Amino acid sequence: MLKGIAASSGVVVSKVFKLQPPVLDIKKVDANADEELAKLQSALEKTRSDIEAIKVRAKGKLSDEEIAIFDAHLMVTNDPDFIGQIEDTIKNDNVNADYAVEQIASGFIAMFENMDDAYFKERAADIKDVTFRLKCHILGEIIPDLTAIDEEVVIVAHDLTPSDTAQLDRQFVKGFATEIGGRTSHSAIMARSLEIPAIVGISGIMEAKQGETIILDAVNGNVILSPDANEITDYTARAVEYHAYVESLKTLKDAKSVSLDGKEVEISANIGTPKDVEAVLANGGEGVGLYRTEFLYMDASALPTEEEQYVAYKAVLEQMNPRRVVVRTLDIGGDKNLSYLQFDHEMNPFLGYRALRLCLDRTDIFRTQLRALLRASVHGKLAIMFPMVATLNEFRQAKAIVEEEKKNLTREGHAIADGIELGTMVEIPAVAALADQFAKECDFFSIGTNDLIQYSMAADRMNQKVAYLYQPYNPSLLRLIKMTIDGAHKEGKWCGMCGEMAGEPKAVALLLGLGLDEFSMSASSMLAARKMIRELSYDKMKDIAEQALNCATQEEVLELLDTVIE
Ligand code: PEP
Ligand code: MG
Repeated sequence: MLKGIAASSGVVVSKVFKLQPPVLDIKKVDANADEELAKLQSALEKTRSDIEAIKVRAKGKLSDEEIAIFDAHLMVTNDPDFIGQIEDTIKNDNVNADYAVEQIASGFIAMFENMDDAYFKERAADIKDVTFRLKCHILGEIIPDLTAIDEEVVIVAHDLTPSDTAQLDRQFVKGFATEIGGRTSHSAIMARSLEIPAIVGISGIMEAKQGETIILDAVNGNVILSPDANEITDYTARAVEYHAYVESLKTLKDAKSVSLDGKEVEISANIGTPKDVEAVLANGGEGVGLYRTEFLYMDASALPTEEEQYVAYKAVLEQMNPRRVVVRTLDIGGDKNLSYLQFDHEMNPFLGYRALRLCLDRTDIFRTQLRALLRASVHGKLAIMFPMVATLNEFRQAKAIVEEEKKNLTREGHAIADGIELGTMVEIPAVAALADQFAKECDFFSIGTNDLIQYSMAADRMNQKVAYLYQPYNPSLLRLIKMTIDGAHKEGKWCGMCGEMAGEPKAVALLLGLGLDEFSMSASSMLAARKMIRELSYDKMKDIAEQALNCATQEEVLELLDTVIE
């Protein structure tokens, strides 16, 4: 049994789909030319039909321009000069087909790469891509392709990028297991919003073999490879049980999030795209507490236009109306990059040029987003919040740009809703420490614990070796949270939390006691959180929270919590 971090709950028994490109070992060997020519022909046919199939699947998902790349790939497989030279090498030298392909392709690649022209450099990339596929077919190696999955599987990979995760088809992908990552890495967050069970940070998982049976117990963070018959029976039953538990929570869909003694809070959802709203409503979300707009930018091949953004924001606001939607402005950098926007290499990208820092520098990008948001505001209840605020001056600058764009739009004849709240994410300890001052100018706070913990503990949220420092229950963090909530309340403002901590059942209880007003989490965690709140006494939790603030370690806090909740 392998152990990892349960990132998205659920239990599955399925088979491994290993996402790892094969490593090819190509050597020159004497061979029969006719046999090798036949191998080449058959591999060329398979390569062409692969590309045709990818092209069909990509329709509707990729732009016409991106799809045209596959036509360029097909041209390579039909190029008489290129293929002719490979055939000549096989015939004249009596060598193996994979070696001949490698020889000729590397000549063409070097020639194109040395040309001072972007068009020809791209042709080099096309040849590399196509000939890798061709060599794999000659050698009988399989190239894994996420979009080609057409049966139920669990994906096993070293890591999944947020865009890999966005492509996963829920119909077939029943779970995923990765070697690196933590509870707050973005692939884990996406898994929760897609409601796909996931375990991350599993050392040894890359030993899994393509197609072998795998059990993913993403409730406890356990993985079993090639289980025996008893284990399969046992975990299949657990999967059914888990499913029944999730179904039973549905009775709370329209219930209030209120404690036994009448303290009412708001349970909202974190979303990444307008498509996620369906799950929010199905799980009784009282609002959207975090709309991560960066996925709109990450799924595109160029910066999304004002109109494209307006359409997305309007869709979310309309569907959620009259519930509040907190939209976070672009939070790029760290582990979220844009292929079409290159920045200088940084030693510490999580501490660098990201999020609001970037937006206040590239105001062209920022203004386009704000204009789209302000125009969409008339379609529902919009709140805007800024990520990675460190100083009050940054918030003031952002707010001033919002005001300017409001004026510009009004002048252009656009309607804008009244009362759009402007808030700050509390992800940097400096803001928590100064929350009382921020609260005089911000309409609300949303605590981003994923980053607040990494910055408080100086521990990279992507680095598995320091994952033990992700300590949501450490009294130091609890004090930062308390300071933030008290700072907001002193000025009559509300305080929410949209970091992953807000959806952890134990933390829900503690945060209720600390006075949090809004809990924002993945849609799949909302009903369990509501159940928890409804079974607790606020007065009692206030007392427990007070004790927790005076503990010395995370372990002490967890022990204390164990006395109130199982
Ligand atoms: C956070 O930092 O807690 C947060 C919600 O933002 P993200 O996870 O997108 O960095
Ligand atoms: Mg963050």
